[in-house]
This record gives sequence, structure tokens and C-alpha cells, in this order.
Amino acid sequence: MTRRSSPQFRIGNGYDIHRLVKDRDLIIGGVNLHHPDNLGLDGHSDADVLIHSIMDALLGALSLGDIGKYFPPTDEKWRGADSLFLLSKVIELIRKDGWEINNIDSVLVVEKPKIMPYVKSMKKNISEILNIDQNLIGIKATTNEKLGPEGREEGISCHSVVLLEKK
Ligand SMILES: [Zn+2]
Repeated sequence: MTRRSSPQFRIGNGYDIHRLVKDRDLIIGGVNLHHPDNLGLDGHSDADVLIHSIMDALLGALSLGDIGKYFPPTDEKWRGADSLFLLSKVIELIRKDGWEINNIDSVLVVEKPKIMPYVKSMKKNISEILNIDQNLIGIKATTNEKLGPEGREEGISCHSVVLLEKK
């Protein structure tokens, strides 16, 4: 039996978490959410937890490593970076390899604020950067029932899955 080497579909899974701190913007999916307690996500870039988990899922699908490899937090170049711009770089890599996105499904784990009012704008941002229809992007949110770091409002995390198809 020959060793399997070139499937037509590949799946990727991405996870990210960032700490909530005072005096930072809360940027998720390229949207400023304005936290009721004035908290934002801490990180070297804009700490966009949704976009980071999608980037890791895309890279993971093709076994290309993770975002730390391409945009190391030790590199001053990426300080305060717009994660949507980083995402545009990741999708270039994916398409250069001859792959296209089938769909993306993400779930944010966040106690506050309510995500739903912002989902439309998030999908619009992501669909424009990736040049895919908004109905190929799923964004859901759940609280962590007051459990764990997300439940104690110490941070916000996100899980994403993507399915790629060979063109
Ligand atoms: Zn991150």
C-alpha cells in the first residue's frame, strides 16, 4: 500500500487566549468592543484572540506551524500589529500552496461583553480580508459559566476550526 500523501481536504484547529487588562482596547475580529469595565486584551500585537485562533487553524491545516513562528512576539515589527493584516499574510501562504477555504467555525469563550451585536461586523472584516463569503464564517460565543480564567473575567479565549480544499 502506498503511503497517503496528497488528500484533497485538510482540517485545522486553532486555540488562543489573552489576558484582560485595564487600559487596552478590546479588539475581536477587528472590531473594538468597548468593554463595560474598560478592559482590553493584552498582547504584543492587538491581541485579537479570534483572528489569532483562525490563523493558527489555517497554518495547522497545512502543518505549517503556528503564528509564533511567522510573527514572533520578540520581533518589534509586530508590536501593536493589526491582526487582520497578519491574517492577510497567512492566507497568502495557504493560497500559494494551492488551497482554498471551505469554511471556518469559531467559538469565543467570553463572559462580558455580549458578542452577538458585533458578529456581523466581525464577519464582514474577516470575509473582506480572506475574500470569502460571510456565510462560510461561523462565529459563536459562550460564557464559561463563571468557571476558569474566562469565567473569572481574567481573559478571553477562542477555538477555531477550518476546512481547506485543494484547488
Ligand atoms: Zn493571540
